[in-house]
Order: sequence, then structure tokens, then C-alpha cells
Amino acid sequence: MSAALEILEKTFGYSEFRGQQAEVIERLAGGGDALVIMPTGGGKSLCYQIPALLRPGCALVVSPLIALMQDQVQALRQLGVRAAALNSALPAQAQRQIESALQDGELDLLYLAPERLLQPRTLAMLEAAELALVAIDEAHCVSQWGHDFRPEYLQLGELATRFPAVPRVALTATADAPTRRDIIARLQLGDAAQFIAGFDRPNIQYRIVAKDNPRQQLLRLLREAHAGDAGIVYCLSRKKVEETAAWLCAQGFDALPYHAGLAAATREANQTRFIRDEGVLMVATIAFGMGIDKPNVRFVAHLDLPKSIEAYYQETGRAGRDGLPATAWLAWGLQDVITLRQMLESGEASDAQKRVERHKLEAMLGLCEVTGCRRRALLAYFGDQLAEACGNCDNCLDPPATWDATEAAQKALSCVYRTGQRFGVNYLIDVLRGSDDERMRRFGHQRISTFGIGADLDARAWRGVYRALIAQGLISVDYAGHGALRLAEAARPVLRGERRIQLRVEEKPQRATRSGSRRRSTQFADADQQALFDALRARRKQLADEQGVPPYVIFHDATLAEMVEQRPQSAAELGGISGVGERKLERYGADFLELLRDAAAGRNDDGGKGNDPASDDGDSDSGGDSLAETLQLLRLGMDAQGIAARRAMTISAVHADFARLLRDGRLELDDVLPLPSEDRATVERAITAAGDASPGALRRAFEALGGGVPLSVLRCVQAAMWARRDAAGGPGEAPPKDATDA
Ligand SMILES: [Zn+2]
Repeated sequence: MSAALEILEKTFGYSEFRGQQAEVIERLAGGGDALVIMPTGGGKSLCYQIPALLRPGCALVVSPLIALMQDQVQALRQLGVRAAALNSALPAQAQRQIESALQDGELDLLYLAPERLLQPRTLAMLEAAELALVAIDEAHCVSQWGHDFRPEYLQLGELATRFPAVPRVALTATADAPTRRDIIARLQLGDAAQFIAGFDRPNIQYRIVAKDNPRQQLLRLLREAHAGDAGIVYCLSRKKVEETAAWLCAQGFDALPYHAGLAAATREANQTRFIRDEGVLMVATIAFGMGIDKPNVRFVAHLDLPKSIEAYYQETGRAGRDGLPATAWLAWGLQDVITLRQMLESGEASDAQKRVERHKLEAMLGLCEVTGCRRRALLAYFGDQLAEACGNCDNCLDPPATWDATEAAQKALSCVYRTGQRFGVNYLIDVLRGSDDERMRRFGHQRISTFGIGADLDARAWRGVYRALIAQGLISVDYAGHGALRLAEAARPVLRGERRIQLRVEEKPQRATRSGSRRRSTQFADADQQALFDALRARRKQLADEQGVPPYVIFHDATLAEMVEQRPQSAAELGGISGVGERKLERYGADFLELLRDAAAGRNDDGGKGNDPASDDGDSDSGGDSLAETLQLLRLGMDAQGIAARRAMTISAVHADFARLLRDGRLELDDVLPLPSEDRATVERAITAAGDASPGALRRAFEALGGGVPLSVLRCVQAAMWARRDAAGGPGEAPPKDATDA
């Protein structure tokens, strides 16, 4: 096991295995098969990535979505691991390169979609290569009992006979017992060792509220608990997605829509923005999310009820993959139940399938109605027992008051019966509350015994009673009959007084609180810490943009937060931070150490005065020292590369110094980046065309130039343009000197 631990430390930058990782790795490295059920964020991929590096040959990873593969490949390459993804989106030339790398034994991991893997040509290529192992990710897709069946997964069973000597591992985050049995049977994993970790995601705080002006409820959550955070807002329909996204934008949020009806290019652009930028809200149908591996999604909000606990668990599981506090928030109402049941009944599924779906929806409603610990109820559904209440769900943090609603339930049920089981909720409430209108008189309902017997409760309370009775299966909704309510068999014992009904007292407006058991967070109470975190985050974003990768493949938020707390001052200290492996230390160490040292210097020199290393006025503070040193080395005749080597900085960090010096007019562009004049003109035109000072202009210019000119160089050219405009005092107003283009 020591070889595995060494890879974990050197390559991945972590000092110990979590949960059952070590056992799974040992099993696979030794040539055995395995089935791994591990919650999202539990470190599933390390279970096959480390054996892939331990065993000779290349590991195959079967994964259903291209976006997911690309994400993993980028992350592995950042670590210096030789990984590639073969998919139809690649140009033929690139495909051939990957194929020959495989033949030459120059690949550690190869990602493939199942349909690609099963092509005869691919199989022939793989038979000629040395395979370390086969990993089948999202293995629940093989089961019809799962919630995301994919027929092409069925044929993956063939791998057992084709590659009998190659160990195989199937992995998923969600699979109940029947789904697990299905995975084993269909993938021929009868001899596989099973590793079933718990489903608990302790850092996620579950909150479920009854709808009461849901937009305002959502707004409170965003403003009070998640200002500036990235999150996903799920809605059921495309129309609602678009309306909600537009409304959030009007409220000042950076929100984007995502649903299957948008053009593919728009979907992709929105997804990329969500992954690469900080603080973006994605408003989406459930078409969005699978294959999204963004670790710092701080909340998942549902404005509509999910149709099963599996779906709810999977969707909420996209929050907090980095292990930091996150919120799963759901607002649900009576109309949700009616809509979902209607969709279910009018669907084309077989009766048997509909029965399964009905059962799943009921379980979801049970979770909404429960007055005890939500997490305990959620885990119980997957067969996990939680010994104690979790202390990190709404019911634990703020135990709901309950009331004996037996009498109200009896009134509500009799009213359904007395009006002939032909009416919907709103009308029934009017009868109970005794509203005497024309329709009531037409049906003669002002003369029945339940007319006006419910005047003691308001309409909102009655809706709560009906919602609970429907959720608990005491009332069924007749979808063919336009939502008329009917009594179910289970209503009898209540009407006869044999069963009592306890309901939660409808919430006063919910306080959206941060997690009770707060672990390391990305919101700091100390202003210096927050400033340093923001500066580290800005540097990460800059480095990510320069390479065209998402920020989190450079470092996770948790790694930056640990830097803020530990304040490493040397490469050795920085290497001790979780998530900083050898390769990343080498590539980025100098960049981040520079900020950490600046922060330390600022603290000591100015007696704790807030020092934000990101904003730099160019002369007195520590950032100024860096500029002065760069300037001095430049005057000694060194170029960017020489300065980077001398000062142990990255070239892009040196360029960032250049940009500040250029902006201040202390340098001329020709001093630092001698570009042929026609090239310079082309670059300047591209920046102007991209909107010059507008947000994202450099990124657009970068793309317009075909990615051939690094962003850090573009930044220098832009700074020189601004300085020139300042000097000319012309009409084009240059942005202020502290403006930075992110
Ligand atoms: Zn709880």
C-alpha cells in the first residue's frame, strides 16, 4: 500500500486516504474486480486513478458524458498524469495521436463513452494494447431500476469475456439494493468485492419549506446565506427556467438559463461560464447537471418538487463536492404534487413502471412532510441508519412545531365526500370557509353540513392540510377529472377517529441560516483573511483563463482556504497543504507564495491594517516591492523569462507586473514585449473590437486571435493602450488605474 500512498501524496497532494479508498485501491491493484458505491464528493475517482498509475498499461474509463470526461482529463493533466479522452468531437488528427499514444504505452488513463468503446475498431485497438483496468463510472446507468437508464450500458457486460484478465470496477453514487443487484448481473461482476460507503453528505444542510411566495423565499436564501456564491436553481419547465433566470438578473444576480430547448451553442456557452466564472447562478431543468464536476457549487435550490428521492439526492449532491458547507434548499407546494402526479399518470410507461414511479414520488413527499431529522429520513431510504439526529438540517436546527390536525383533517375529508368527490382544492376550501358565491349556490353547497365549518383556519392553513393529506396518500387526485380530489382507502381510519394526524405548523418566513456545525468555509469573518482569499482566488482565475481551464482544476476552494489559515511561506510549507502535489507546487507554487508572502509582510509592517494584495497602487506597499524588483531586473537587461527564473515567479505573474508598470506609464511596451508593429496593431484592434474595457474583453480578444497570444500578453498591450490614451488626454476615456480585467 505504500506505493499507493506515495502517489496520493506526490501526485495528488493529499496525505491520507478517505473512507474505503485504500481497500478499493488494494483490491484493483491486486487484479480483483470491485463494485464501489460512494457518495459524490467521496473521492470515487481516486479509487481507479491510483490503481491506473500503479498497474502497467493504460486504464480505460467508461463515462457517459463528454463534458465530464474533459473535466477529469484536464484535472489529471494538471497533476502531470498522462490522460486523454477519445470522442467524436475530436478532429481525426487528434484521435490518431491518442491512438498511437495508447499503442506506444504513453497513456495512463483513457476516457471513452460506452458507444465508442463498443465499436469493433475501438475494441480491436484495445486488444492490441496493454490494459491496466477498466472502470465503469455512473454504473447505475446499466439498470432499468435506476433513474438514468442508458441502453448502451447493457453491452458493457461483454468486456468481461473480451478482457478476462483485466480487473474491472463499477462505480456510482446512487444505487439502492435492486439497482446494485442489477449492476452486478449485467456487468458480470459476480466475483467483485463490494464497497458500499454510506450515502451521507454531512456538509450539505438540507432545508425543505412549504411554498409561500417562492421567489421571495429564494431571494432570502441567496441574500442571507449565499451572497456571491455559485449555485444551481432547478425548475421543472423550460418556460419557468427562462422567467426565473430573467427575474434573478433583474435582481442583480449573474444568472444564466439552461434547458434542452436552447441552442446547443448557447447551452455550452452557459455551462462554460458556470464552470469557469465565480458566483454564477445556473437556472436549469434537470437536463443540466450530470457531468458537471464543479466542486464549489455552494447551494442547490429546487423551485419545483423532484419526482423521487434518488433524483433529489443526485441533484442536491451537486452542492459542496469540495466538502465545505453547502445548502440543499427545496420549496414545494400542493400544485407540485398535482403536476407531478398528472405527468406520471398521463405518461406512456407501463402500469408496472407507473407503480414504481408512484411509490418513488410518495417517498419524496414523505421526506417533505417529515417532522424529524431530514438526513435520517433521506439515508433510511437508501438503507443507511443514522444513529443520531444530524444537527444540520432545518428540522434539527429549528424543530418544527406540530399541531393535532385530526379534526381539521376530518373536516377536509368530509368536505371532499359531501361535495361528491368532483372538486379541486380551491373550491373545497371555499366551501369549508363558507364563501357564499354564485357557484356555491348553483351547486347547492351552502346547504351541506361542511359549509362554513372551517372558518377558524385561513385558506393558507387549509391548503397545508390538503397538501399533507395528499402527500400522505389519504386523498388521491383524479387527473382525468381536472384535479378533482377523491378519498383514498387510507382516509377511513381518520374519518372514523381511529388514526390521529399530526401536522407541522406552517412556517413563518424561514430564516436562512448558515450551517450550524460550520467547518472550514470560504466566507471569513476576518477582513484580512477574506482579502487574502479573494486575492488567491483572483490569481487562480487568471491562471485558469490563461490555460482555458476551469479554476478548480488548478486548486479547489478548500485548498485556497487552507492556505489562508496556514499561511505557508515556503515551497515546503505550501507543499504540505492538502491538494498541493509536486506538479502543482512546481507550476503554481511561486504564484501563490508571492501573494501569501505579500500578505504576511503587509500584516507585520502596518500593524494589521487591511492589506489587499490584489489591489495595488504601485508604490508604497508590498506589491510595490514586487514591481520595483521587476523593474530593476528589467533595467538590468533581463527579459520576462529571465525575471521569472530569477524571482521564482511564473511568466504570467511577471507579465502582470509589466501590465501594472505599463499602466502607470513607467514602461513602454517595446521595453518589455518587442512585438512587430503589424502584430501589435492586430492585437490592439482585436482588443478594441472585443470592447476594450468591458468585462471579459481580453478573453474575447484571446479567442478572436485564435488563442495564439497569451492572455498575459494581451493584458500588457491593453495596459499600454490605456496609458497612451491617458497621456494623450484624448476623448476616449481610459478606465481608472485600478481597473483589472478578469
Ligand atoms: Zn437533521
